[in-house]
Amino acid sequence: MRLDYSPADPAVRRSARRSVLIASLCVVLLVAVATREGIAKRQSSLTEGSLPPEIATAFDADSESAFAETVQSALADTLPAPQASDWVTIEVARGQTLSDIFESQGLGYSEAVAVTRLSSDTARLKSLRTGDKLLLRKNPEDKLEELRFELDESNTLHVRRNADGDLEAITIAATIERRQAQAAGFIENSLFLDGQRAGLSNRLLMQLAEIFGYDIDFALDLRVGDRFAVIYEELYKNGEKLRDGDIVAAEFVNRGRSFRAMRYIDADGNIAYYTPEGESLRKAFLRSPVDFARVSSGFNLRRRHPILNTIRAHKGVDYAASTGTPIKATGDGRVEFIGVKGGYGRVVILRHGSQYTTLYAHMSRFRPGLKIGSRVKQGQVIGYVGASGLATAPHLHYEFRINGVHKNPMTVALPKANPLPRSVVARWRAEHAYALAQLDAISERQLAQTPSGSPVGGSP
Ligand SMILES: [Zn+2]
Repeated sequence: MRLDYSPADPAVRRSARRSVLIASLCVVLLVAVATREGIAKRQSSLTEGSLPPEIATAFDADSESAFAETVQSALADTLPAPQASDWVTIEVARGQTLSDIFESQGLGYSEAVAVTRLSSDTARLKSLRTGDKLLLRKNPEDKLEELRFELDESNTLHVRRNADGDLEAITIAATIERRQAQAAGFIENSLFLDGQRAGLSNRLLMQLAEIFGYDIDFALDLRVGDRFAVIYEELYKNGEKLRDGDIVAAEFVNRGRSFRAMRYIDADGNIAYYTPEGESLRKAFLRSPVDFARVSSGFNLRRRHPILNTIRAHKGVDYAASTGTPIKATGDGRVEFIGVKGGYGRVVILRHGSQYTTLYAHMSRFRPGLKIGSRVKQGQVIGYVGASGLATAPHLHYEFRINGVHKNPMTVALPKANPLPRSVVARWRAEHAYALAQLDAISERQLAQTPSGSPVGGSP
């Protein structure tokens, strides 16, 4: 990937902002972060008809839907209607494998192995988890006739014996319908209280905070009269609401300054948010590589070294955190060095384009599999806090260099992330015309009832 950085305003209090915000919601954060990756991935496996336009247009729509139809009708034609008595439902017990289950049902070990070898989806039956549910049906010869397994909320794996007596596997995607919903409100207390009152789930609020978190300090900058509007997706399976999807478009007006964001989904299903003009709302770097940490020593070119007891420049920032705290890559890049290096102990150096490098020292361990040349994404865990090398207590020593020159990571002006390619902006905007019109309409309604601005919670 080519990186194209352009300078942007410094955002000095960023790390403090983010940690206050995140700390106040740590429980929500953990839940939201845990589900987020899975959601982004699942989106690319939904059926064509239910894909958001950004993804759908990236596929050959005709062949995709034709395939889905063939699969559905093939199943309808060939599968006997399941009879309740034929099917056995098995809930996977702790430590139970597919072959354990097959043997308990009088099916052979070799049949279990044969099933797992049918496709990449059946290979997933090799790593069943406690509580997974399998449906099995045997034929009169006591061999496996059919097996069903829900791979995730939209995909079901079907294994069946065909007319030739061979097992075959197919994965069927349920139609997930996406409906747009909206929520809007004014800030009186905090983003979270007022957001919840407006009907936004915690997951959507975390997403909203993340989208605008590079520009707005939700802990310190909010004022009474600030307002927000969110257009988001709700996912329905067979007419029943499954859960909230992602934010499609949103506006936050902070002290009279309006910020707008619209979703973009790339060909790999990754979601990012841009201004309606196609500018990124992200910065190329996170301010801090660790959450829930305290700065124990700042950037200081004339510091007395705590172990060597000599004046020695401290060309980075130390974040005190307990051993094992995850360390995140602050920007997209590649691993330039990973290993042990003198006083740094276990250290990772990342290169981000031609100008920028970041360094993470004193790790207790590296992320398994990470090696020189590995690509990393912003926010991805690269290792864990420790006290290797010259360190008196567990902490992360973090350095930020531009063209080899050390900069203060807490105050350096962070470049913006790449904008959307010009070639896609016009089409992308056109796809969001309806959402943008909704934001305009909400904004007009809100303006008519805007209270005068004053600090939230009475603080200056
Ligand atoms: Zn240090």
